[in-house]
Parts: sequence; C-alpha cells; structure tokens
Amino acid sequence: MKMADDKEPQVFIVSGPSGSGKSTLVETILELPGTLLSVSCTTRPPRKAESDGKWYNFISEAEFERMKQAGEFLEYAQVFGKHWYGTPRSWLDLASARGLDLILEIDVQGAAQIKKKLPAAIAIFIVPPSRQELEKRIRARGQDSGDEIARRLDRARQELEHYREYDYAVINDEKERAEREVQSIVLAGRSQVARRNDRVAEILKSFGG
Ligand code: 5GP
Repeated sequence: MKMADDKEPQVFIVSGPSGSGKSTLVETILELPGTLLSVSCTTRPPRKAESDGKWYNFISEAEFERMKQAGEFLEYAQVFGKHWYGTPRSWLDLASARGLDLILEIDVQGAAQIKKKLPAAIAIFIVPPSRQELEKRIRARGQDSGDEIARRLDRARQELEHYREYDYAVINDEKERAEREVQSIVLAGRSQVARRNDRVAEILKSFGG
C-alpha cells in the first residue's frame, strides 16, 4: 500500500454490491470527525425519497458529457451498462482546502481508476455474508421485480470477483462489528507514519531532536 503524505487528503473508497449495507457503513464512517462525503453526479433518475445533493447530484446526459469532456471528473463509469456515474474532481480540492479525508462510495470500475490516479487511496470492499442473505435483503427492500433481483445477484457476483483489488474486506454479517471495522480502517489510515511526518517532526523538535 503506497502511503500519502500529510498534506494531501486521505481518500477512502468504499465499494460493494447493492444490498451489502455499504451506504449504512459509509454513514458510520461519516460519524468520524474530519471526514467528507464525495457527492457523485449521475444520469440515473432519482428514486423516491432521494433528494438532490445528499447522495447524488442528478444531472442530464448532456451535462454529464460536458463535464467528462471538460475533465471535471476524477473518475467516471457506466454502471450496470446503463446510467453514468462520476466523482467530480472538485471534491478532492474541497477536502484538501478543508483538511478533511474524502470518502468515495463508488463501484469497482471507479475504484480501479482512483487507485491508478491516487495510489495512496485506501479501498474497502463491503462483502455480504452470503448469496442467500443478500437475496433476502434485496427482497426485503421490496423495490425490485424478480428479473431485477436476479440481475442484481448476478451483478453482485461479478463485483465480488474484484475483491482482491481492495486493501480491506469488511464482511457485513454483524452490523456492529462491521461498523467498528470500517471506522478502525479509517482511523488506522490516518495514523500512517507518512501522514504523521510533519507533526511527529514538530514533536521531535520540541525535544531538541
Ligand atoms: P445506485 O444507482 O444504486 O445508487 O448505485 C449504483 C452503483 O453505482 C453503486 O455500486 C455505487 O457505488 C456506484 N456509484 C455511485 N456513484 C459513483 C461514482 O461516482 N462513480 C462510480 N464509478 N460508481 C458510482
């Protein structure tokens, strides 16, 4: 794992199949002071109860294309071969200006792009406990038809195959433990020596070192 220096924001990527409990775990990370959620742009229409600007900025395909051409995305991908999703570069600038760590909830394609551009980013994969459990959770949400459920499960398998590209795998079989794990990963990431250089050097100086 390449380390960041203490001037850049630490970037954390969170990926996982839909129904893995990823969004809840992202909320747990955001309870830690000093974290900032990157709000993606998407061409997907909002679902019921999704307001603009919280999890997504909902934009037209034309606007997405314009941002793409203008190089305004840190990464972007077409997810489920359908809608486009992208992380605006401006979130990294904002995190940098405010001295915050940036949390990206993005898919496996986006994670690979970020790892290439920002090798010090720490990538966390949220793993559902089993296919049966994932199916139960998707059905309990009651949002999808039978066909859609089958597609989501197939997609989950494809995403899971990428787990080796991540630094951490959090198995979401027990909520409290998974919550502690994601927070611990973020806290440990912040304490990497490379990110503490300036402060430790300062402390050392106070010793006359
Ligand atoms: P949903 O439409 O269910 O909210 O999200 C579908 C998938 O798109 C999820 O796996 C989510 O993590 C991913 N996603 C959300 N925002 C972005 C983004 O900015 N970039 C990429 N590459 N994937 C994203």
